[in-house]
Amino acid sequence: MVKKNNPWYADGLHFECVQCGRCCAGPGEGFIWVSRTEIEFIANHLKQTISQLRRNFLRRVGLRTTIIEHPATKDCIFLQEKAGQRTCMIYHVRPNQCRNWPFWPNNLESLNTWNQAARKCPGINRGRLYSCEEIEQIKKTKKWW
Ligand code: SF4
Ligand code: SF4
Repeated sequence: MVKKNNPWYADGLHFECVQCGRCCAGPGEGFIWVSRTEIEFIANHLKQTISQLRRNFLRRVGLRTTIIEHPATKDCIFLQEKAGQRTCMIYHVRPNQCRNWPFWPNNLESLNTWNQAARKCPGINRGRLYSCEEIEQIKKTKKWW
């Protein structure tokens, strides 16, 4: 039962990733923001210096930094095909933004925006039930480490 002042998802939302990789893929262009600490984690993981990582995989947008995409497909540069499955090359150190999907503020604005996100992500509206409290927690997490 949705009480007054509670969000529309007060009774929780279902989500279970089916590992399709679509949220990391084009065709639309996007931004995969990384903080300074996340850049250090990724550089260490790939055994690169921060300068190498910036040169090879990152770009500046104003004051912020995003992971680059393949020029043709617009897939995240770290999305790779392995044994017929699309996986993240930096999964263990993937940025906060990737970890919080699909519980992003813009997806959670309304049932309509949530169901729009479900058109891209087949994991939405299936599987595990996340409580409203869990969703709020994930939504506001800025540092996964
Ligand atoms: S689109 Fe959804 S189901 Fe597919 S990998 Fe991303 S989170 Fe998982
Ligand atoms: S960093 Fe990994 S999880 Fe995030 S968009 Fe790229 S491939 Fe997907």
